[in-house]
Amino acid sequence: MLLSPGGFAPVPPFEGVNLENVHTFRGPEDTQAVYDRMKETENLVVIGSGYIGIEVATAYAEAGINVTVIDMEDRILPAYLDKDISSLLEAHGAEKGLHFKGGEAVQKLLGEGNKVKAVVTDKGEYPADTVVVAVGVKPATDWLKGTLEINEAGFIQTNEYLETSAKDVYAGGDATYVPFAPTDDKTNIGLATLARRQGIVAALNASGTKFKMPRVSGTSALRYFDYTIASTGLSLNNADLYEGEVAWKYVEEKVYPDFMRKPGTVHMTIFYDEESHVILGGQLVSKFDVADSINVLSTAINAKYTLEQLALLDFFFQPNYDRPWHYLNVLAIEALGNTVGGADKLLF
Ligand SMILES: Cc1cc2nc3c(=O)[nH]c(=O)nc-3n(C[C@H](O)[C@H](O)[C@H](O)COP(=O)(O)OP(=O)(O)OC[C@H]3O[C@@H](n4cnc5c(N)ncnc54)[C@H](O)[C@@H]3O)c2cc1C
Repeated sequence: MLLSPGGFAPVPPFEGVNLENVHTFRGPEDTQAVYDRMKETENLVVIGSGYIGIEVATAYAEAGINVTVIDMEDRILPAYLDKDISSLLEAHGAEKGLHFKGGEAVQKLLGEGNKVKAVVTDKGEYPADTVVVAVGVKPATDWLKGTLEINEAGFIQTNEYLETSAKDVYAGGDATYVPFAPTDDKTNIGLATLARRQGIVAALNASGTKFKMPRVSGTSALRYFDYTIASTGLSLNNADLYEGEVAWKYVEEKVYPDFMRKPGTVHMTIFYDEESHVILGGQLVSKFDVADSINVLSTAINAKYTLEQLALLDFFFQPNYDRPWHYLNVLAIEALGNTVGGADKLLF
């Protein structure tokens, strides 16, 4: 048997959460309801600025609806981005009709009749005819309690072959932990990519081929209006999971040579072990499609590459696509305290 019960979107017990037009965003029913509300909505409030909240918020804003996103953290996408990059995206969002209110705690929802009318925080009140609560995911495992080993946070415990505590019962997906490459420890990361890999690993083991779940870094990408945001491994938010000293470097770099007249910047952060320089994580943000490059960083983390190795890693150069030093080379070079000059700057 393979268990993959997934998670549910928890709703904090705010006064007013049971009013009409207050939704979560998890399965197909939520999706349909949130989509249907677009026609009726002038003001959307999204509680939570993780990737699910931001996906709903951008879709509404692109439909011309006024959107407010509220989060207790001081920046959007706090699980991925540091303040340097998130400030840029918050300003971009404001131009597109997405207004971010960071460092505010929601206290209650106000209604008119049965319908939601406003969201009240410790700092203000925001009109809302639709509210989406996107404050995370919890494992849907209550029904399994007492049958399998489940930890205090509700995650099904598995070994590296994805076997649970019950014979011939395997588990994967959002209700389990995955081996996290940057820390070599286990953590929960809710991504379809990982659930699919776990499904294959469980199936191999169940059918007699011993196979360990590979280490993963929670690699993901997201579109945010004109920007692509991509992230892998450690970020500011989870750097404390790492036992050693974590250092990081923020770098802005051009994507193309100047003579191509394609102005474009990539904003990058890299996280690494201060002593060994082993790469632990990174984020890329650009108006250009830099999403695929995050897979290079993910591979580097998995292979325990150092900054020195990434600095000189063999990347192609062709001016339609990149510069003689690829921006990921530059990221590592600058994290090592050097600057890219010489032939690159003279030529281009
Ligand atoms: C809006 C949104 C966007 C996302 N975008 C991405 C993305 O771009 N890339 C990515 O990698 N991931 C993405 N994810 C995450 C991805 O959807 C999840 O990681 C993935 O679906 C997890 O798979 P799962 O099998 O663990 O759980 P689920 O897909 O949640 O499936 C679990 C199923 O089990 C059912 N179930 C639970 N308990 C029982 C029970 N007792 N009896 C019967 N059935 C039960 C549930 O109803 C559910 O249908 C997104 C998630 C959301 C909400």
